[in-house]
Amino acid sequence: MEIPIVQLEGSRRDQGRRHGSVLREAIERNIALYLRRFEDEAGLPHPEVLRRAALYGEAIARTSPRYFEELAGVAEGSGLPLDHITMLTVRYELLYDRFSRVHATPHAPSERDHGPRQTPDGCTAFAVLPERSTDGHLRLGQNWDWIPGVETAFLSRRQSDGLTILALTEAGIPGGKIGLNSRGLGLAINGLNSSSDDWSSLRKPFHVRCDEALRSLDLDEALCALAGARRSCSTNYLVAQAPNAAVDLETAPDSEKLLSCDDGVLVHTNHFFDPKSLGIEQRAEDLHPRTRERRERMLSLLATRERVAGGDLEAFLCDHDGHPSSICQHPDPALPESERYATLVSIVMDLTALEMSACAGAPCSGRFETIRLSG
Ligand SMILES: [Zn+2]
Repeated sequence: MEIPIVQLEGSRRDQGRRHGSVLREAIERNIALYLRRFEDEAGLPHPEVLRRAALYGEAIARTSPRYFEELAGVAEGSGLPLDHITMLTVRYELLYDRFSRVHATPHAPSERDHGPRQTPDGCTAFAVLPERSTDGHLRLGQNWDWIPGVETAFLSRRQSDGLTILALTEAGIPGGKIGLNSRGLGLAINGLNSSSDDWSSLRKPFHVRCDEALRSLDLDEALCALAGARRSCSTNYLVAQAPNAAVDLETAPDSEKLLSCDDGVLVHTNHFFDPKSLGIEQRAEDLHPRTRERRERMLSLLATRERVAGGDLEAFLCDHDGHPSSICQHPDPALPESERYATLVSIVMDLTALEMSACAGAPCSGRFETIRLSG
């Protein structure tokens, strides 16, 4: 596996220190990449990014002290400044706020001049219930489409209560956002945008919620971690638990909506299905021009089989309909380098067998490898 798997145990501080120490160079590269991208794509100069990150750091220390312990551990282990490490954890709120703001305010030319013209498409996520799979297993997965060059890692951890968790993260971000735990609970995610997004509300960040969801023992606990308190920015979460439960949770800052499987499958990309019912407006097509086509394409691929095998799902994630903004997304050479996106990791989780199949880079040219949840 080209993506490192880092084993963590002990106190949250100790886990953070090991994460920081093992992945130090990758964390440094992520900090440099995001600072450059914040400036080039979102028009945010470094001092402003770090000021916002420090404000979030204070909020996380108050509301999520255990997560903050791990953040502080990553800073200690890597020898890098805490506000830079915090910036990585809150990069979702800071970047997506800019994406939403620029596209939701047509009369703000100064922001449009310095903001992203387009964020070409994004993640395609799915759940397949046992009734639709060839071996009766519950599967959850996605292509994670993001900025080329972002350094990732799998964090494999054991909690003091015996729960084990395996999750993909970006080097420097505690927890993880796409993963599973030993209770057969899994999480997949999609970026969303709405007119209500506002980083400055400093509510519990996306990455902290994902970490709490992945530590949950059941679906209700995970949904409470994701939606139990209001948010700064919109996000979509697909949560499933063996033997046979899967739900989708669309969240805007002040409202949320649960969606269920249809004919044993659920597919979500980068738009709210019914934004009016959540009291928001979205500019999904401006930001993710092919989000609806990618969802329809994945549904039509799933419909080609009465029952779907894990290998089928891996093949579907390699699909190039609508290339380069396809399910398997490739950087669009027509766009400036600072606005390109690509599939960085493909993951198919088997929540029944407690393992995941993962491929680093574009899955059409890579190889899926199986990683079992440890112990
Ligand atoms: Zn491809």
